[in-house]
Amino acid sequence: MYTKLLIKDMNVSNLLFRAINFDFLSADEGKFLFENAPLGELINVADELRKIQKPDNKVTWQIDRNVNTTNVCIANCKFCNFYRIPGHSESYITNIETYKKKIEETFRFGGDQLLLQGGHHPELGLKFYTDLFRELKSLYPQLKLHSLGPPEVAHICKLEGKSHTEVLSALKEAGLDSMPGAGAEILNDRVRRLISNGKCTGKEWLDVMRAAHKLNIPTSATMMFGHIETLDERFEHLVWIRKVQSEKPASVMGFVAFIPWTFQDENTILKKIKGIRNETSADEYIRMIALSRIMLPNIKNIQASWLTVGKKVAQECLHAGANDFGSIMLEENVVSAAGAPHRFTSNGIQEAIRQAGFEPQLRNQKYEYRKLPEMIEQQVIDY
Ligand code: SF4
Repeated sequence: MYTKLLIKDMNVSNLLFRAINFDFLSADEGKFLFENAPLGELINVADELRKIQKPDNKVTWQIDRNVNTTNVCIANCKFCNFYRIPGHSESYITNIETYKKKIEETFRFGGDQLLLQGGHHPELGLKFYTDLFRELKSLYPQLKLHSLGPPEVAHICKLEGKSHTEVLSALKEAGLDSMPGAGAEILNDRVRRLISNGKCTGKEWLDVMRAAHKLNIPTSATMMFGHIETLDERFEHLVWIRKVQSEKPASVMGFVAFIPWTFQDENTILKKIKGIRNETSADEYIRMIALSRIMLPNIKNIQASWLTVGKKVAQECLHAGANDFGSIMLEENVVSAAGAPHRFTSNGIQEAIRQAGFEPQLRNQKYEYRKLPEMIEQQVIDY
């Protein structure tokens, strides 16, 4: 009865008025807007909020490379085609010669960073990662390491019997510059039990991020949607992320960006066995981008995931609250293994941003502007 009364009292205009004033809307209010607000009104408000947060008409992009430490994983996520079980003939741990080749190639293509991630290997503990980070930094002091993610950190903590803060401090000391918001999927544990039971809980994910922010490790946050989650769970996810951001020390960046992306279903167990497909339409993705901007007034950068929705929809998102186009990803093996078919060169991504009416601006992981290196090679997209 009380909920019904509250919903009756909600109206789109009032909620959008509060949104434009940077008010924190509740999960119910966000869901109400998702279900009732005309897309044009959501887009207008989200675009206004973006202009207040990022007034310079620039859309940022990045050059980096996703390199995997290992594909061995015991988490068994039902949307993942990338991992191999321990002992599998296709399992690997990346060796230093491969890192060197990939890093030097990344520099030639104008990149300055590795997004270094991998599976939950049952035997690779903290020393493996701190040794690796130290070796890479001693070989390439200018290299930025945007690495691991809350589920991998939580896994290392369990292997070592150490706290999040102890493990993150050691990783930072060894060279971790920032941490991606990987493995958030949907933070509600009902969903996690069904799609990624071997990964950390939603609370652990948020707690690792809280610890990272206290140590001044910049992070990002993500949401993978369009599978088995309810709308309530999507909006609760946004509110939980916003709460962690509001708890960070004032002097640190915390979540530098939020990146919502759609579940890629090709050949996944979720599709093959459970019949779950990603049926997110272009309008729904744009609606979620606009509502991400509206629900997260304390996160400055909202990224459109061209990798999963393609160039055209991502361009529309730039007028609906998004201000970032992400990385050209010289290499990406996890999302692509589930069917994400889109690719960009550094010239191509800049052209796409200009076509959408914005000025492309190269950035680093902290969203600081970078000058485009004068001599960079364009990668050949042959896959
Ligand atoms: S998504 Fe990550 S944690 Fe899950 S199975 Fe794949 S590699 Fe393992």
